[in-house]
Amino acid sequence: MTNPNDHTHEFLEIDGSLGEGGGQIIRSSLALSLVTGQPIRISRIRAGRKKSGLLKQHLTGVSAAADVGQAEVDGAKLGASELTFAPAGIFAGHYHWDIGSAGSTTLVAQTVLPALLMADQPSQITISGGTHNSMAPPFDFLEQAYLPLVNRMGPNVQATLAKYGFFPAGGGQLSLQIQPAPLRGFDLLERGKLIRHGATAVVANLPIGIANRELDTAGRKLEWGKRAELKAIEVKGPGPGNAVMIRYQYENVTEMVTGFGQQGVSAERVAADAVREIRKYLRSDAALGEHLTDQWLLLIALAVWKTGSSHQFTCLPPSSHATTHIQIIQQFLGVQTTVEPIDAHAVRVSLERV
Ligand code: ATP
Repeated sequence: MTNPNDHTHEFLEIDGSLGEGGGQIIRSSLALSLVTGQPIRISRIRAGRKKSGLLKQHLTGVSAAADVGQAEVDGAKLGASELTFAPAGIFAGHYHWDIGSAGSTTLVAQTVLPALLMADQPSQITISGGTHNSMAPPFDFLEQAYLPLVNRMGPNVQATLAKYGFFPAGGGQLSLQIQPAPLRGFDLLERGKLIRHGATAVVANLPIGIANRELDTAGRKLEWGKRAELKAIEVKGPGPGNAVMIRYQYENVTEMVTGFGQQGVSAERVAADAVREIRKYLRSDAALGEHLTDQWLLLIALAVWKTGSSHQFTCLPPSSHATTHIQIIQQFLGVQTTVEPIDAHAVRVSLERV
């Protein structure tokens, strides 16, 4: 454990330009630093992005992690390309963080959640900002796809959505009630039987007809019969927004893909894009889709690191995002990850402690 008054930290050097050089490297490095107690220096932050450096959402992730770890932080400023982070431990508690923009609340939550799952006391966290952002898990994905896997590992995390928040106005809020427990890993090789499927379309300050058209398009293209569960939700908020979330819940895993409404793009097009994405999953037998793979990697690697047992899962061929994530995890935990092809649409990933 690091003593915050000791200025002679041995920093683990993290190259923020690795792979596609995005925000995930920062979030996962902070999460892993908190869990392991390892001080880090991240340089060339988000060098791969057009607007490089720390944005508000990442900065809130840093301050959230700093609160949870009572960490000594240097360099955390808007636009910064380098920062150091040295946690003093894991401190459970009641926290509220406000991103102050439409930045993703779910990504901030995922930064601190691994540590809080391993804390010695329960926590409650509330985060204000965007809850349904493109390029991030929407709240529904967190609640229905990600957290069920977390809860199967032993801890109990319940999520509540108080208000929807869309880009660019934000104004959303979510809370997590976190009951920690030792993380137990498990294999995720098969989806299991299909239990239910359907879609939810949400509009904020926009006509409900948009949501209905998205549901119709998804249902028609995916040839859904009466069994599909369809829900159109209309909310009022500080600004307009729209998302359509297509969900397939199996015995072992739930996959969800999201289409985000944009000005000038028809509801039919938004839904059709989401349908195209879910088809990639449906034509494969893999358990995990692209995004859940990314997020499961960190959790299962932590379980392997903690318990010493080896685990496997099947997923779609990994994105550059996932391969970058594997490198970061290896740097912190010494968990070896092997990816073997199964067929054109699926790979098997094995993790073991070295
Ligand atoms: P940047 O790279 O510009 O900093 P960022 O901070 O949002 O952006 P990314 O590196 O792009 O970070 O990571 C986004 C994370 O959100 C990844 O874990 C990805 O799997 C997840 N994600 C993106 N879109 C979805 C989606 N539709 N559903 C679920 N998860 C998603």
